[in-house]
Amino acid sequence: MDVKKNIAVSNSNKTKSSGYKNFPMVPRVVFGRGSFDQLGDILLPKRRNAEAPVIFLIDEVFEGDDLVTRVPLMFNDKIIFISADEEPKTQQVDVLVTRIREEYSELPSGIVGIGGGTLLDLAKAVALMLTNKGSAQQYQGWDLIEKPGAYHVGIPTISGTGAEVSRTAVLLGPNRKLGINSDFTPFDQVILDPDLTKGVPRDQWFYTGMDCFIHCVESLNGTYLNAFSQSYGEKAFDLCKEVFLGDLPAEESRDKLMMASWHGGMSIAYSQVGVAHALSYGLSYVLGVKHGIGNCLVFQHLKEYYPEGVELFHRMRDKHRISLPTGLCESLSETEMDTMIAVSLSMEPLWENALGASWRERISHNTLKEIFLKI
Ligand code: NAD
Ligand code: ZN
Repeated sequence: MDVKKNIAVSNSNKTKSSGYKNFPMVPRVVFGRGSFDQLGDILLPKRRNAEAPVIFLIDEVFEGDDLVTRVPLMFNDKIIFISADEEPKTQQVDVLVTRIREEYSELPSGIVGIGGGTLLDLAKAVALMLTNKGSAQQYQGWDLIEKPGAYHVGIPTISGTGAEVSRTAVLLGPNRKLGINSDFTPFDQVILDPDLTKGVPRDQWFYTGMDCFIHCVESLNGTYLNAFSQSYGEKAFDLCKEVFLGDLPAEESRDKLMMASWHGGMSIAYSQVGVAHALSYGLSYVLGVKHGIGNCLVFQHLKEYYPEGVELFHRMRDKHRISLPTGLCESLSETEMDTMIAVSLSMEPLWENALGASWRERISHNTLKEIFLKI
């Protein structure tokens, strides 16, 4: 395995070839409790004709839920329920695209993803692959997508990842976990309806919420920080503190965490994440640990790198009585441990952001092993 090829993130706010990044943003966004019901009106002008459907990719946790009765189906539209138990895969994207192409003679008028990071990334990838030839795995990387995708809408039902604003669709391919990073990846429209996050189980709320908190800590403490990232990062950081350490009414807490996710995503878009994401990536690669919980498992042991953030994390965890599994890395073979460390160390921009250009002098194989053995 060439771990260098597995870097799933882009570099700082500068690109080698063209100076500062020209970052695409989501052009349209609605925010508000109950705003999901505007979806029908939003889609109407995008419907090309009765033969060009809107395909709704919905987390199967909503199967049978009242939300499904509110999906504005017309003509030959279709709902496809998808499990978020596993992270999205390139092959899964290919199967969905083939199915849609076989079933309809026309390109869909739109793809709507409803769910967490898993469904949002799937919706982005399916929209792109409907207009670009070949398999999704060919486009894992940077700026390989040639044509704009089908119109795509993202509707988060859990807050934290920032996938609703990001320029990537993270996919597990046959050889690597890597995003489809492109200017065509961001959603054309996002609907932020905090009411949709009502049913999120408490543990999952914490894990995915902490993804946002950790984005802020890593961005704000990184060497890539700039005023653009800082302005979003500080706002998201403060919102996370209110949500996880304050005593907000439930509705206000949902509103604020949804906006924290958005701002956290904007912050890392123009800087970078750091040590926790580098290690969490290794954990996920070898043990299949999901992103949110993986970040928590790692971050709790990073006091040396993020003293204030880790102290706050422990307070938040205690307040919400969240327990994290232990002993995950205890019985890893030497080869598995080596792979985990190699994958983590291969995330060069993350280390450079976290520790500066001479990061290799501060971090070693053994430092990482010590941290992993605590997990
Ligand atoms: P998720 O989509 O994996 O969902 C986590 C769990 O919450 C699932 O069991 C899901 O069914 C459940 N759930 C979601 N909404 C719910 C609701 N309203 N009620 C009840 N249950 C609900 O979670 P996530 O943490 O949002 O996403 C993780 C994924 O996001 C990973 O695949 C990761 O790679 C990806 N990610 C992408 C980006 C990006 O920029 N594209 C950034 C970070 C993470
Ligand atoms: Zn993250």
